[in-house]
Amino acid sequence: MARTGTNLEAVAEFNVSVVLDAVRRRPAGVARSELITLTGLSGMTVSNVCRRLVEDGLATETVLPATGRGKPPKILRLNPDGGFAVGVHIDPAVVTYVVVDLAGAVRHHLRTRTPTVRDPAKVVGEMASAVDDLLAQSSVDRTRVLGIGIAAPGPIDAAAGVVINPPMLPDWHTVHLREALSAATGMPVLLEKDATAAVVAELWFAEPEGSRDFVFVYYGTGFAAGIASGGDVLRGFSSNAGDAGHLTVDPTGPVCWCGRRGCVGNMTVPRALVERAVERSVLPRASAGNMDDVLDVGEAFGRLADAVDAGDAVAVKIFTEAVEALARAVVVIANFLDIEEVVFGGPFWDRMAPLALSVLPQAVLEDRALVLPHKIRFAESSVPVDVAAVGAATLVLDEAFSPRPRSLLLTAPAEVEGGLA
Ligand SMILES: [Zn+2]
Repeated sequence: MARTGTNLEAVAEFNVSVVLDAVRRRPAGVARSELITLTGLSGMTVSNVCRRLVEDGLATETVLPATGRGKPPKILRLNPDGGFAVGVHIDPAVVTYVVVDLAGAVRHHLRTRTPTVRDPAKVVGEMASAVDDLLAQSSVDRTRVLGIGIAAPGPIDAAAGVVINPPMLPDWHTVHLREALSAATGMPVLLEKDATAAVVAELWFAEPEGSRDFVFVYYGTGFAAGIASGGDVLRGFSSNAGDAGHLTVDPTGPVCWCGRRGCVGNMTVPRALVERAVERSVLPRASAGNMDDVLDVGEAFGRLADAVDAGDAVAVKIFTEAVEALARAVVVIANFLDIEEVVFGGPFWDRMAPLALSVLPQAVLEDRALVLPHKIRFAESSVPVDVAAVGAATLVLDEAFSPRPRSLLLTAPAEVEGGLA
């Protein structure tokens, strides 16, 4: 994913982003001469940018011992302590908070039960104090925190920073989260859909030769497909792209709340699998708890996955049917977007993964509907822990430091960081 810069004075901030992007993708360090090749910038520009990065504390420079005649090479490395970002993932069951450094490493994380929104001001207060706790426990310098990213289930109003009324969060209606949390913490706040945040994280951590066109199958309380196209996340008109839950994968399947039969979301999410497990007596009804309580569903799903791991034939069949349904949806999405790779992740993915990875790739590749002429790769998310929380944090880093023409065109050079608010 090589980015090249420009030598025009007016776009100096863009060049800083280009160089920083090249530096952070090479943790072992990179010589100035190499940076000139990688970025396409002039030696003078690279020298100026390197000096600025060091002055701003974003990078460190080491002079290597001279090996011959001429100047000894200077190696630039990212300074992970140069900046931090907070990521907040609002899942229907738990809210996860992470603080990551400039290298994307998680410095600290904590979790709280997701509050119901009877009183939005109280919720925002709780979130602000959780962010305070997170930063205090991590010993991160608050003045070095660039902002807070929030990943929430859709739909969202990204422009207004509002969580609208996600089907998975029945008590949440039009919560003005971004402004309220920004006012409560004094920090810039960004809001994004959870699956979109996952894609941003994958792109942020990708190897330079990593895939530019992939779908991120986000398996949480709900099902979503985050999309990377040409190396950029695809957000859509209102930043709500990726809701693939109502793709029909079985015309004789169970009726979805939308009125159709065999919608992939309705057939594959943890709640659906737990209900099937109760119907087929894999789980005793009493032990499944309250199906409207996401925590109960999560625990019951864990027990179903235990049964799969133990080789229970009915449990294995329930998972296999779900994975085959997922595969049919993946084929349609892959065809439609011409993707190269399918990445899997999300809060409930881990328990599904062993069976899914042994069934799904073959089911996709053998599907007669698959029309793509190239190979498709299948991978698990490269982001450890909670991909949406880390993704929410990388939204902030991405907004501040990713070189992209959008920033160049829409943001005055001096306002790159201010563009977060
Ligand atoms: Zn449906």
